[in-house]
Amino acid sequence: MKFSWKNLLLWSLPIIVISFFLWQGIFAPTVNENNTNLTNSRMTYGRFLEYIEMGWVKKVDIYDNGHTAVIEAIGPEIGNRMQKIRVELPASAPELITKLKKNHIDLNAYPTKNNTALWSLLGNLFFPLLLVTSLALLFRRSNNATGGPGQAMSFGKSKALFQVEAKTGIIFDDVAGIDEAKEEFEEIVTFLKKPEYFTAVGAKIPKGVLLVGPPGTGKTLLAKAIAGEANVPFFSISGSEFVEMFVGVGASRVRDLFKKAKENAPCIIFIDEIDAVGRQRGTGIGGGNDEREQTLNQLLTEMDGFEGNTGIIVIAATNRADILDAALLRPGRFDRQVNVDIPDFKGRLDILNVHAKNKKIDNNVSLSIIARRTPGFSGADLANLLNEAAILTARERKNQITLKEIDKAIDRIIAGMEGTALIDSKSKRLIAYHEIGHAIVGTLLRNHENVQKVTLIPRGQARGLTWFTPSEDQSLISRSQIKARIMGALGGRAAEEIVFGESEITTGASNDLQQVTSMARQMVTRFGMSTIGPMSLENEDSNPFLGRGMGNTNEYSDEIAIKVDSQIKLIVDECHNKTRDIIKNNRVIIDKLVDILIEKETIDGNEFANIIKQYTTIQHKI
Ligand code: ADP
Ligand code: MG
Ligand code: ZN
Repeated sequence: MKFSWKNLLLWSLPIIVISFFLWQGIFAPTVNENNTNLTNSRMTYGRFLEYIEMGWVKKVDIYDNGHTAVIEAIGPEIGNRMQKIRVELPASAPELITKLKKNHIDLNAYPTKNNTALWSLLGNLFFPLLLVTSLALLFRRSNNATGGPGQAMSFGKSKALFQVEAKTGIIFDDVAGIDEAKEEFEEIVTFLKKPEYFTAVGAKIPKGVLLVGPPGTGKTLLAKAIAGEANVPFFSISGSEFVEMFVGVGASRVRDLFKKAKENAPCIIFIDEIDAVGRQRGTGIGGGNDEREQTLNQLLTEMDGFEGNTGIIVIAATNRADILDAALLRPGRFDRQVNVDIPDFKGRLDILNVHAKNKKIDNNVSLSIIARRTPGFSGADLANLLNEAAILTARERKNQITLKEIDKAIDRIIAGMEGTALIDSKSKRLIAYHEIGHAIVGTLLRNHENVQKVTLIPRGQARGLTWFTPSEDQSLISRSQIKARIMGALGGRAAEEIVFGESEITTGASNDLQQVTSMARQMVTRFGMSTIGPMSLENEDSNPFLGRGMGNTNEYSDEIAIKVDSQIKLIVDECHNKTRDIIKNNRVIIDKLVDILIEKETIDGNEFANIIKQYTTIQHKI
């Protein structure tokens, strides 16, 4: 096609129109105020209202003339950590302000900047103008080159959206606590360094390795370590970067990536979050996603297109292998699967040792005590923990990290920022009874974890907290242990009821009740621990992405559904009654403990146990 201004006009008119709408719809809400870009997490307005009801919202900032809110919240769906989340607000939301006021939530509204007519006109014109200019350039280029208009339109090619690191600088010693995965990978380093060992005896070198594990367990780190150990370049891209607005862009990026990699072999290609492209085809709302399928097909073609001995090894990471397309897992593609799990005690200790190396830590601090206190922490959590402790140390102008800072950092990571305690008042007393309720029920039940600390110092959303010593082995939990946990969780509410009366009970127990219900429900529907019998009626999360069955998960009859509900109620009622009995029978010591707690604000586990021992009436655990 010859370059002519007529041609250019023909092409650019529709693009100007389209891009105007794109700009309005996609970019305009975010350009005005940078702060709204702070977060990628989003939440629907309805969910946001529920979060307010549950008391999980801490702070609300309103932008864009009331169109967008950035909230700080903590809740079970967002990992029980304080997070910033973006919420699009509907055009009229009259109930919102009253709701926020009622729940005493911090509210700030920010004025929209750059809002003069001229600026917005310029802003609106900027994007189309940019497009027209670049289009003109593209036309010129395609005119000079041999190619036709098809080449001029290749959007994907101009953007190199993968990262290349010539040297990652990470070695196997930087990775700890996941020894099995590491061993598997040490072999792969040998493939890269000495492929002839394997090809000489006719062995095929694996092309693809799939790393499966929860976030923060060191998957990216491990992939980088292979590149570092083998001294080869590291090409990385995230699955979500493949999935673009224009069909075909993702596929062309895959092609680019493999082309560059082949030029630089031997090397590692790392595809993070492969589930974003590699999900089973033909699933999802509305049938499927053409773009994703094209990208996936391209990926499969590329992986089939090179021989194992070209020295390219593709490593992909995901936190769920079960939703991946079966074609990805066939021999010759990602035929090796390596699981990376949340570390156990020894793993945590090893990881702490790695990250403690470059930090000044007091000699009295034993890393094994930290490892004991942190079951369920991932490698990233542990790294974060030591870093937080170092920051706290620096803030206090100390030159060595002591146990005090580490304890603070653990508490902060688990439960959020510390607030200041209430002054003595009726509600402080009520919170004290609530917490002592949890603590005493937990202490008196044989199958319950021991109390580590009870405190009235608020943290995150909680106004008081009872910490229990986490037990290491969380994999097999007995029926009586779950029941003990249900009773422990009901202890707070039961104490409110008995001490202050039914009419004075508060919303403070809502989180507890949620846990109680969820545990009771799982006893019935997942663990076969009710009279319905050993049946699995629900899966852990059967529809992570509303794929396949489109959210229709309950595969049992209405008749069973009624039984499920009544069994759940039966369990909760039984536990509730027993919990109330424990509170009633121990009223004297509860009153005593509450007085101490109000005075001292924190009672630690040993002290708590000693006080209980003084009252000889309680000798046996129930
Ligand atoms: P993933 O990719 O599995 O989500 P990353 O590899 O990105 O996790 O881990 C993030 C950070 O956490 C790493 O850079 C490292 O500092 C730390 N980390 C995670 N796992 C480990 C581990 N097994 N050993 C040492 N450090 C780890
Ligand atoms: Mg990662
Ligand atoms: Zn509670």
